Order: sequence, then C-alpha cells, then structure tokens
Amino acid sequence: MALTISSAFDAGNIRVVKQDGFSADLEIVKDHLSDFYQWFYFRVAGAGGREVTLNIVNCAGSAYPNGWPDYKAVASSDREEWLRIDGTSYADGVLTIRFTPETDCVWLAYFAPYSMERHHDLVATYASLPFVGYESLGKSLDGQDIDCLTIGDGDLNVWLYARQHPGESMAEWWMEGALEKLTDGDDPVARVLLRDCTFHIVPNMNPDGSRRGHLRTNAAGINLNREWHAPSAEKSPEVLYVRNAMDETGVDFAMDVHGDEAIPANFLAGFEGIPSITDRQTRLFKLFSENLERISPDFQTSQGYELAAPGQANMSMSTTQLAERYGCVSMTLEMPFKDNFDLPDPLYGWSPSDRNSSPSPASTLCTRSYRN
Ligand SMILES: [Zn+2]
Repeated sequence: MALTISSAFDAGNIRVVKQDGFSADLEIVKDHLSDFYQWFYFRVAGAGGREVTLNIVNCAGSAYPNGWPDYKAVASSDREEWLRIDGTSYADGVLTIRFTPETDCVWLAYFAPYSMERHHDLVATYASLPFVGYESLGKSLDGQDIDCLTIGDGDLNVWLYARQHPGESMAEWWMEGALEKLTDGDDPVARVLLRDCTFHIVPNMNPDGSRRGHLRTNAAGINLNREWHAPSAEKSPEVLYVRNAMDETGVDFAMDVHGDEAIPANFLAGFEGIPSITDRQTRLFKLFSENLERISPDFQTSQGYELAAPGQANMSMSTTQLAERYGCVSMTLEMPFKDNFDLPDPLYGWSPSDRNSSPSPASTLCTRSYRN
C-alpha cells in the first residue's frame, strides 16, 4: 500500500512537493490572487499503522510565521473529533508532523475545519425554526449566498458575523455555539436577549475563501476586513451587502469573530483611535470586556493587540468602521489556533469539541455577559 495525499475537496489545501515512501514534503498553497497562506487541510491515505513524516516546508513565508512555534496540528479519522498531534514540531521554517495513523484514511488540518457543507447544515437547522428568519444578503463572486439569520424581537440591533478570514474556522464553530445558545428556549438569558434585541447573524462572510481553502481572502484575493470603508461589487461584494443591510437596520452592538495564529489566548480588539469616539462607547466596551473576564476563565485582557493612538484607527476594518459609522459598541473576538495556554488542553487544544459545556466553548464568551 502506498501513501496518498489529497486535498481536492471542500476547504482542502496542500501541495505535495516530494514523496518518498511514508515521508513527504508539502507546501501550503497561496490564496488565489494573493500571497497569504497558512491554512492547510488534507487527507492521508494508505498509511494505517505506519509511521508517517510530513514536512510542510514553506512555513517561513506564511502569513504569520509566529503561529508555528508551540503549535500542534489536528487530525481526525471520522472528521468529527479532531485531536492534536503530539509529534508536531517547528524548526527552520519547516513544520514537521510525525505520527502513526490508526486507520487508512485520516484527515489533517490547521484547525478543526468548518466546511461549506457543514455551513449549509447549520443554515438548514436554524432557518427551519419558526422564530428564525432567513435572508440572502447577496451573492459572492463565486455565486454563493451571503446567508443571514435573524432572531429576536427587541429594539437593539445586534450584528454577529464571522469568517471574514475563511481559514479561521473556529469563528464558525463559535457561531454554531452562539446559535445553539440563542435558540435554547429553556435558557433564561437567551429569552431576555431575544426580548430585548434583534440578532442579525452572518455565520460565514467569506464562503468563497472557505470553499477554496483560503486563509485570509475571497475569490478575488481580497482581504475583506480591509474593505469596510469602501466595499465594491467587483472586489468585495460580501462586505458591500452586509454593510448595506447594517445601514438599513442600524447597529447597536457588533461582534466580528476571528482566530489568531500567534497569540495563545482569547481576547477582544476594540475601536480605539476612531475619529468620533465617545465616552459611552468606551465605557460599554470596557464593561463588556470586564464582565466577560469575570465569568469566563477562557477569556483574558492581558494579551492582545496594541491599541491605536487617538485618531489613528484603521477605518478599513469592520470593528472601527462600524463603531464610527453607527456610534455603536463594536468588537473583534479573537480565539487561538494553538490553545488557551492559561487553561490548556493537551488532547484537543482550543477546539470545537469543548472541554467546557456546549459545542462551541466561546459561545458563552459572548452571550452570557449580555445580562449585565
Ligand atoms: Zn481574522
């Protein structure tokens, strides 16, 4: 039996450079029309019970080289449970993955994948509920719908959107958890939220990049989170349609869900440095963040991004653009690819299978603190 490596499937990404028995040199493929790369997802077949050595040789030039030290790849034989591979190591720009698959078909990835097929399962599950509304906000360049689910009857318009960066699959796992929580009729917090707020939920802002196995861009190689000041139908229709829909409803609270390659922690990024920042916005953002830290050991505020100086915010990003445009409280939630090193899980790392309590650990990060 020979080793076979393939990635010609939904969200797949790898190129085989060289293969010698049960060892192979691999490269991650750049996003189409872009230089970004870091997401990988492929199948290893025909190696059950044999030690396999895989070298991803182009890691030094990836989007976030600091993402590789202390990182462990994930593997699954059923594509449901994704376990960290202990024999992952990084040196001199090469990520080496050494392991012995138990079965003849095993899938490896940068993080537990969230395929477009699973996305459609998610939309089907929630769009079928009588109290959940569905709308396509428009089509991507590849012709996929930008799906939006609406829940609740309240006056406050809350926008939750994820996966502007398609390789950050934890963002859509988070959405799965958030939707499960919000639609749980036995949950008193969810009931209050749906009474006071109308939730507009875009679980996947970048279906083309997701299906194509991109890290960071859409079908035209555009980073959607640098388009919010001037989205266009030619380059960034995904942003244009979502922003237009936001203009119609207004926005009181917005959360943009992401993953961070390098920082092994959960953290928020805010809107410091926007031109018209108000004390109210700053106070509410701080209140949210403090409450989150109080209720979730998986959240912290000591690690994160540098704050922009007054007037120096990058207004092409959604969080800053929305805070400025609507005077709202807006934030980016970042979750780790590696793990939360303050509360590590050697078996799964940060993962959708949740050492905590629901399918998406971070769902509680967001929704619980609304009650305060
Ligand atoms: Zn991101």
